[in-house]
Amino acid sequence: DTEGKILTRTMKFRGKHVSQMMTPIESVFLLSSEDRLDRKTLLLIVEKGYTRIPIYEKKNRRKIFYTLNIKDLISLDLHNEPKVKHVIAHLRKTRDTPMRFVVANMEAQQLLEEMKKGDEHMCCVCKYTPCRYQLIGLITIEDILEELFGEIEDE
Ligand code: ADP
Repeated sequence: DTEGKILTRTMKFRGKHVSQMMTPIESVFLLSSEDRLDRKTLLLIVEKGYTRIPIYEKKNRRKIFYTLNIKDLISLDLHNEPKVKHVIAHLRKTRDTPMRFVVANMEAQQLLEEMKKGDEHMCCVCKYTPCRYQLIGLITIEDILEELFGEIEDE
């Protein structure tokens, strides 16, 4: 029955790491701080359909510093095709949304608890390799809930 399945799922969930349910960095849709929000880019954003877009520094795809919420674009004047970095500078005047980083072997359960309390929805997942942290993926509350409750009927 469904109840039993949820229970089994919850037990299996314990001890799982965030890296087991993240979206790997290769599949993440990102924009550069240097990209222009021109017609082509806006169409791409709509096509991808994500609510949040991680923004990386210049040409370094592994250096993410901000989460752009597409809802924040609605009120902006984009006719002069501004660069992402200028849009962010403007948005930061009213509300800052820095990226949170977690380590790959953090327990998903713990992250879920923390995300429930805070107002974060998305985190970058990093792996510690000697001397530095390397970005390996992205995790949202949705990924964790999917792991817990996703497709229960299909099993
Ligand atoms: P959305 O609200 O944009 O639909 P969710 O937080 O509901 O995003 O997450 C749905 C799935 O999409 C998750 O697997 C999440 O990791 C993934 N996801 C969210 N944003 C992005 C992005 N910018 N690029 C790639 N995958 C993403």
